[in-house]
Amino acid sequence: MSRFLSTKYKKLVAYTPGEQPKDMQYIKLNTNESPFPPSEKAQKCAEDAAKRLMLYSDPECRELHKKLAEHFNVEPCQVLATNGSDEVLNFAFMAFCDDKTPAAFPDITYGFYPVFADLNNVPYQTIPLKEDFTIDIKDYFNLGKTIFIANPNAPTGIALNREQIKEILRNNPDNIVVIDEAYVDFGAESCVSLVNEFDNLLVTQTFSKSRSMAGARLGFGVASREVISDLNTIKYSTNPYNVNSMTMAAGIGSLCDEDYTKANCKKIAENREWLTFKLKALGFETLPSLSNFVFAKNDKISGKELYLKLKQKGILVRHFEKERISPFVRITIGSKDQLEALVKTIAEILEELK
Ligand code: PMP
Repeated sequence: MSRFLSTKYKKLVAYTPGEQPKDMQYIKLNTNESPFPPSEKAQKCAEDAAKRLMLYSDPECRELHKKLAEHFNVEPCQVLATNGSDEVLNFAFMAFCDDKTPAAFPDITYGFYPVFADLNNVPYQTIPLKEDFTIDIKDYFNLGKTIFIANPNAPTGIALNREQIKEILRNNPDNIVVIDEAYVDFGAESCVSLVNEFDNLLVTQTFSKSRSMAGARLGFGVASREVISDLNTIKYSTNPYNVNSMTMAAGIGSLCDEDYTKANCKKIAENREWLTFKLKALGFETLPSLSNFVFAKNDKISGKELYLKLKQKGILVRHFEKERISPFVRITIGSKDQLEALVKTIAEILEELK
């Protein structure tokens, strides 16, 4: 820390992204990326857009918003594209939370929520998940706070259904409820179709996971025209050109190639079921995931030890130090080849313990 850092940031503990080591070629199952390349249409569109990089990107993201609006059957003014969904989430903390309206989210969830809260000086309440790591929706009724729920949740992979989210929305008529659907395409029910029914709903999604575009940094929010207008106020006060033109073009290309995305999501869901079955056969307990990762633990080995041993053997998974979830590792669903190598390596590690 330099002596110049503003006192307001001196205690800020930044978010730690999953490691991206370059010391050797790992099988990377630690940051929930897709094992498949982006759609060829997306790649081609990005390549064409590269020829016009001397110009600023369209601050209004007109073409992309139009395409997203068609895709979700809403008006373009109900959509806001951002630099990854992290950006729209941060905008939501800036726009809809303050001392009078703190934030609320589960104790076990996306680790960026408390960081966004601290960054923006927003008080927050964490609500413990139940013993089985599910959310009790009643805990979220009439809190008088802005609610953030990742659905499916991370790192558990467990999802609420649309009816349950509707109950949360009905019981918070005067507060924004943000449903973070980063992983929704792998099997959970999306709430985007509810944005015209509930003016307190903001749904966020990303192109990073199901659309294989983590490196492009493209996310978006869908909500009422008024909520999107508030988010635009924040966007135009921070970075009007928040989405670059190559990414915007790639996003449109991806949306023109729905069959590709759907086929990849289906493969991921099949691989997830296969991995779950294999892990159970090796004595693991897994949480019921509807996302592109599995949260698993085995009483014979701690989460940390398993993570370290896998890393030594060239496979990266994610381990969290937080006490309640430290027995677990989070494994991103990769290709069948990657998962076969993982299962073989885990079996070896467990054998070596004997
Ligand atoms: N929400 C959740 C629950 C996530 O796990 C992630 C990925 N780290 C994000 C949002 C943000 O993803 P991105 O900024 O790549 O869209």
